[in-house]
Amino acid sequence: MARYDYDLVCIGSGPAGQRAAVQAAKVGKRVAVVEKQRFVGGICIDNGTIPSKTFREAVRRVYSRPGLEVMDPFATSGRSRPTMQQLVGHVHRVIQREISVVDDALTRNDVKILYARGEFVDPHTIRLEAEGERRVITADKVLVAVGTRPGEPRGMKPDGRTVITSDDILGIEELPQTMAVVGAGVIGLEYASMFAALGVRVTVIDARERPLEFMDYEIVDELMHQLRKATSRSAAATPSKRWRSSRRRSGKDC
Ligand SMILES: Cc1cc2nc3c(=O)[nH]c(=O)nc-3n(C[C@H](O)[C@H](O)[C@H](O)COP(=O)(O)OP(=O)(O)OC[C@H]3O[C@@H](n4cnc5c(N)ncnc54)[C@H](O)[C@@H]3O)c2cc1C
Repeated sequence: MARYDYDLVCIGSGPAGQRAAVQAAKVGKRVAVVEKQRFVGGICIDNGTIPSKTFREAVRRVYSRPGLEVMDPFATSGRSRPTMQQLVGHVHRVIQREISVVDDALTRNDVKILYARGEFVDPHTIRLEAEGERRVITADKVLVAVGTRPGEPRGMKPDGRTVITSDDILGIEELPQTMAVVGAGVIGLEYASMFAALGVRVTVIDARERPLEFMDYEIVDELMHQLRKATSRSAAATPSKRWRSSRRRSGKDC
């Protein structure tokens, strides 16, 4: 008789957990994925990669093809600003489809999906808790693939309405007139440029000397240039003065 319930348990069903689970199942291991949400796919599908890219596509289509057919979910009358509901409606349809793709991949490979919050009791025992019920499962190996959470700036607690994180951004009900994006990383700049394209006055705030420090300077300069061009077109993202002066110092202004 097997010593453990499973050969591998992955805690978290994002890209990391789901890929590990499927690979292990393909080589004949008994595998389970534990997921605390009511659906699989992780942040990637819930409010990360897929929703942000779908939203970006919606914004791009609104502005690159103003004469869209009425059948198109993003069709707006003339060049009027689309509503948040119009933009986000399609995001939810894509999310649902992606969830079923992941669910199908796991099920087809005989990976057991356990919807519960998992926590360690000991290195081979995991307590599962869902809707007040508890049970334990055991595994030879456990992969912790629980992802990350947005950082909260000191002294600024998200309230889900005025101060929100990137996890909540697509849940806002109306496009705001103005927006301050704290953090000029990939996610911050991506959302800043999307909302700027929608006519929101966006200010990006970051304490670092340069945005996207890991990236080639010339590419970042070009990105800043494009953001500023968008600013003059549609009242958009304003990179901080500090970045402007650092560009001049580097002599790479374009
Ligand atoms: C706005 C945004 C845009 C992004 N855009 C891109 C992009 O364009 N390209 C790109 O490559 N990456 C992008 N990313 C990053 C990408 O989403 C993450 O790198 C990826 O989702 C990480 O996968 P993961 O499996 O490690 O964790 P996650 O996808 O975060 O999944 C972790 C899962 O673990 C579950 N979990 C946590 N704790 C427990 C517990 N105790 N018990 C049970 N389950 C638990 C969570 O519910 C979640 O489902 C983006 C992220 C964000 C937020």
